[in-house]
Amino acid sequence: MFFASDNTSGVAPQIMAAMVRANEGYMKSYGADAIMARVRARIRALFEAPEAEVHLVATGTAANALSLALITQPWAAVFAHETAHIAVDECGAPEFYTGGAKLIGIPGEHGKVTPEGLSRALGSIGESGVHGVQRGCLSLTNVTEAGTVYTPAEIAALTALAKARGLPCHLDGARFANALVATGATPAEMTWKAGIDVLSFGGTKNGCMGVEAVVLFDPSKAWELELRRKRAGHLFSKHRFLSAQFEAYLEGDLWLTLAQNANAMGQSLVQGLARVPGASLRHPAPANMLFPWLAPGTNARAAERGAQYYAMQEGAREYARFVASWSTTQDDVDALISALCP
Ligand SMILES: *Cc1c(COP(=O)(O)O)cnc(C)c1O
Repeated sequence: MFFASDNTSGVAPQIMAAMVRANEGYMKSYGADAIMARVRARIRALFEAPEAEVHLVATGTAANALSLALITQPWAAVFAHETAHIAVDECGAPEFYTGGAKLIGIPGEHGKVTPEGLSRALGSIGESGVHGVQRGCLSLTNVTEAGTVYTPAEIAALTALAKARGLPCHLDGARFANALVATGATPAEMTWKAGIDVLSFGGTKNGCMGVEAVVLFDPSKAWELELRRKRAGHLFSKHRFLSAQFEAYLEGDLWLTLAQNANAMGQSLVQGLARVPGASLRHPAPANMLFPWLAPGTNARAAERGAQYYAMQEGAREYARFVASWSTTQDDVDALISALCP
């Protein structure tokens, strides 16, 4: 009963096998491996973006912070939801890598930035000339930190507001596959067609050992990213092991198959909650992450029975975060639901 996060799961066997295969013999280092050339071509085809540039890193924090550094001046603001991973879960890495850019947290129900919220923030920053920070970029997250998803149309509405001010747009896609499965959108529809310039394309949470792709739809910044990645200590020397993970991840649409399982188990949990007295969803949960309100004492009981997840409290009310992964089974879901029941 491991529902704390999708990164408590292991590595998908197809990806582990690819890493073992990549271990044979010698290959060029630092991203010059032949596997990386195939990954780049594959991502370009997948996103219908023949010019896109692709760089791999080992953590999502590196992907986000390097992406933001590429599109934000040190004296500028990054507009993001107030609960965004970049704002609350990266130990200041975006501020550090951008050289001091200011993160502006935008409130919004269910983890989502709204056009009204973004308009308000855009109108309140960058209005005091040399004395205040300037407007820098917009960063959205899909699947959001609240487990909700943006449709491509919702993303396009937000990026349009940013673009009207000349701001580039980043998407934190640590759970990009889960967002696509939940919406039925194509990779292109969810990104550049909706105004996204830079994507952190997650692999780790969805079955890889540790790899995320930074996808630049505007390739003019590719060399700068190359330099920033190296300077930050994030250029993997035996890079073939990052490439091999991503190649196997995309092979035969494995990434979508893995996310389909995670989302299906998320939906099975949503259904199972109907059997848990006093449980109700705090946010809509169309993907693999849910936040149910729970009756008093439920978290303690489930913990005693061995369920592992984030138990939380708001005022006197208790709630939980459950995340299903590529490897979650129906038995795991049934066990958790039983542990929650009196
Ligand atoms: C997990 C996660 C990341 C990446 O985190 P790392 O621990 O640095 O790999 C980024 N964004 C979101 C929304 C996440 O959930």
